[in-house]
Amino acid sequence: MKISETFHSIQGEGHLTGKPMFFIRAQGCSVKCPIREVCDQPESLAFRGGHDMAPATLAEMALAAVGPRGWVSITGGEPLDQPDFDELVAACRKLGLYINVQTSGLRRVNAPWDWCTVSPKAPVSELAIHFAQELKVVYTGQTVDELRDYYEKFSAWNYYLQPCMQDGRANTEETIARVFELNRLGMQWEFSAQWHKYLGVQ
Ligand code: SF4
Repeated sequence: MKISETFHSIQGEGHLTGKPMFFIRAQGCSVKCPIREVCDQPESLAFRGGHDMAPATLAEMALAAVGPRGWVSITGGEPLDQPDFDELVAACRKLGLYINVQTSGLRRVNAPWDWCTVSPKAPVSELAIHFAQELKVVYTGQTVDELRDYYEKFSAWNYYLQPCMQDGRANTEETIARVFELNRLGMQWEFSAQWHKYLGVQ
C-alpha cells in the first residue's frame, strides 16, 4: 500500500474529536476535487512518492500506538484509490482495532468500517455512498439548495460544515452564519473546526 505518512495523535475534526487515533494517510488522490488547490494535504495527492508498506505492518504499528480496541483513521489522499484498502481494514479488524474511514464518497467502501466520514467533493447525485456516520462538507460558499440536497439525499447521523483554509485564513464566520441559516430552515447542521490546527498538533 502507498503511504504518505503515519502518526499517532487525537482526532481533531467531527464527532470523534478528541479520540486518540493512529492515522494512516494513503498516498494519491484521483478525485476531481474543487478544492484541490487548497487541499490540506498537498504532499499526499500525487501517486508518485510515498512509501510502500504492507497492510499487516501498518496494523501492527497501529496496535502498538493505540492498544487493543483503539482507533485507526484511514485517510488520504483518497484511501479508496488504494487497491489494498480492504486488506488494510481486514488486518486492523483482526487485531481488534476500530476503523474510521475518511473518504470523498466517490468510491464504494466494501470493507466493514466502524465510523465512516464522507467529505464530498461532488454533488450528492455523483456519490457512490449515500450513508455514513458523518457527512462533513468543507464550506466554500455552497448554496442552501446544494446543502439541502446533501441533507435530504445522504443519510448520516451528523452533518457538519467545516471552514476552508485559504491563504492562511479560514472562512469561519461565513461557515457559522451558514450553519445558523440552515438550522433556521430546519436542517440540523453543525460546525466542525479542525481543532488540531488550533492546538498545533498533527
Ligand atoms: S479529495 Fe480530499 S485529498 Fe483529494 S484533493 Fe480534495 S481535499 Fe485533497
